[in-house]
Amino acid sequence: MLSSFRPATRLLARQGQAQSVVRAAYASTWSNVPQGPPDAILGITEAYKADSFSEKINLGVGAYRDDKGKPYVLPSVRTAEEKVISSQMDKEYAGITGVPAFTKAAAVLAYGADSAVIKEDRVAITQSISGTGALRIGGAFLERFYPHGKSIYIPTPSWANHKAVFSDSGLEVKQYKYYNKDTIGLDFDGMVADLKAAPNKSIILLHACAHNPTGIDPTPEQWQQISQVVKEKEHYPFFDMAYQGFASGDTDRDAYPVRLFIEQGHGLILSQSFAKNMGLYGERVGAFSIACESTEEKKRLDSQIKILVRPLYSNPPVHGARIASTILNDPALNKQWLGEVKGMADRIIEMRALLKKNLEELGSKQNWDHITNQIGMFAYTGLKAEQMDKLAKEHSVYATKDGRISVAGITSGNVKRLAESIFKITG
Ligand code: PMP
Repeated sequence: MLSSFRPATRLLARQGQAQSVVRAAYASTWSNVPQGPPDAILGITEAYKADSFSEKINLGVGAYRDDKGKPYVLPSVRTAEEKVISSQMDKEYAGITGVPAFTKAAAVLAYGADSAVIKEDRVAITQSISGTGALRIGGAFLERFYPHGKSIYIPTPSWANHKAVFSDSGLEVKQYKYYNKDTIGLDFDGMVADLKAAPNKSIILLHACAHNPTGIDPTPEQWQQISQVVKEKEHYPFFDMAYQGFASGDTDRDAYPVRLFIEQGHGLILSQSFAKNMGLYGERVGAFSIACESTEEKKRLDSQIKILVRPLYSNPPVHGARIASTILNDPALNKQWLGEVKGMADRIIEMRALLKKNLEELGSKQNWDHITNQIGMFAYTGLKAEQMDKLAKEHSVYATKDGRISVAGITSGNVKRLAESIFKITG
């Protein structure tokens, strides 16, 4: 039997030689493509996975975990999904702007039912591929239509993907001051000074709540001042709201800056994500909207949003949006969901307090107030890159080099060991 295969093998080998001659004669089309760096967060997950220590801790990923450290599917999401499935809907394409019952409810959740923009029907909106997709549509829209320049100002630091999303959209990304490393708090004066120094009518990206990566938000009074400066300078605000409800546990409270800006008469762009507050990470549910001056303007903008989205991905996926829509539009489920959002936010707030308490009980001489002053999924510890390296190498605690830890990865079971590890490297 074997011998009968030999000629074929030889033939294949000859063909292989011939192909490599052809390959050698022409340089590969892709020889100019350099090896890119690995994604910073995925690198952490890989290092974490490769560690065999049973008490290792992963504080890198921005996804909620329950107190056992396990991914959490909200019971309201489970119920909504069962409803969606049992209603046996078809799988036809959604329209370009997605599931209308979802976008309508998403706008109400963000702007508030009593908002003038909702009542006067002047929100141009489309479903998006979660928050990232909404930001990308925003980038494309601004690049095509914003009449006063192609720069966008983002805070320093900001979510790592902002720069890439906006520069890939053809915008020039500039920065304004936000974080004060000496106070591990907001550099409010620096922020205001930079907003004043930017050319009039600049586009300003603002994190609506639970600033990522610092966990530091302006106070309501500071938001009022920011609104004032933005107005004086005729800047155009672009709110990224990836954590509505997840910060304080209250969706209305977390939407404060967006609603304040609307009340103050600003036009604005808004990106919404349902990844965190509904735990719909992989379902990719989000919304992109523009608060317009009139219904007539909304109609024009809606038409152009459709023209932008169509060649990007034609229309968004329906399943996650149907789940979110079911939760938002069913009063009982909505109430249940709000309770679950609060449960997630409260667990995070509790873990912040426990971490600080444990550090203090160990006798740490450092001030850890910022851990509990900050809000949302992340805490900016103030630890340096070398200290973060030590945490990983000597204590099997994994997080990003900028000192950011995902508080969602802390549990009542690992907080003591985490505090001990931080104490050992900081004293
Ligand atoms: N904006 C910010 C500030 C974020 O932290 C995130 C998620 N990490 C997003 C947008 C987008 O998330 P997603 O695309 O998963 O909704």
